[in-house]
Amino acid sequence: MAEQGILLVISGFSGAGKGTLIQTLMGKYGNYALSISATTRSPRAGEVDGREYFFKTKEAFEGMIAADELIEYACYVGNYYGTPKTYVEETLAGGKDVILEIEIQGAMKIKERYPEAVLVFLSPPSGEELKRRLTKRGTESQEVIDSRLSRAAQEAVGIEEYGYFVVNDVIDTCAEQVHGIMRSEHARASRNRELIERIKTEVKAFQK
Ligand code: 5GP
Repeated sequence: MAEQGILLVISGFSGAGKGTLIQTLMGKYGNYALSISATTRSPRAGEVDGREYFFKTKEAFEGMIAADELIEYACYVGNYYGTPKTYVEETLAGGKDVILEIEIQGAMKIKERYPEAVLVFLSPPSGEELKRRLTKRGTESQEVIDSRLSRAAQEAVGIEEYGYFVVNDVIDTCAEQVHGIMRSEHARASRNRELIERIKTEVKAFQK
């Protein structure tokens, strides 16, 4: 049986560069799979249903909650966002590391429900840089940008709850750092019980 994959939670202020980090991780290294969330927010220009998100009505989303089809969900700036359960569980069982790009309330639910998950908080180098990146994206109204900036202060309160804090200055360096974290996590003794048992049995045969 393949070794179970690791659940990698990536959070960070809107504009921290989570999307770029994930694309870089997936493009540069094997063994990552991205979970596609369900949301009630409207698609942005260029977003495709089933690629960036599964776009749902509020009623359909609430139906998913009632049917226990989500491993976590949260309300963020007036919309629901949630992680479908089946894909995550099947992909982890197949040995891939599954990335969840989710906000902090959802991350805390994952930490509770999957204590072995790896939680990374991604930050831009400064507040000024965060503002600059959000404005430059040009996909949102000023009102939405302001509410996302104001939400950043709230999210910052929970940073210490994450296992890792990574600054996204140069994207390739940042992706290397996160991949390094995952390699170390895979080497944890607690994640390699079967292998350890096997080696123990094998070396026991040498005992005189
Ligand atoms: P955006 O609208 O910019 O795509 O996403 C807004 C926020 O929702 C981001 O912080 C993103 O990480 C978070 N988010 C996306 N999908 C999920 C999800 O399935 N669950 C939770 N809790 N947050 C999510």
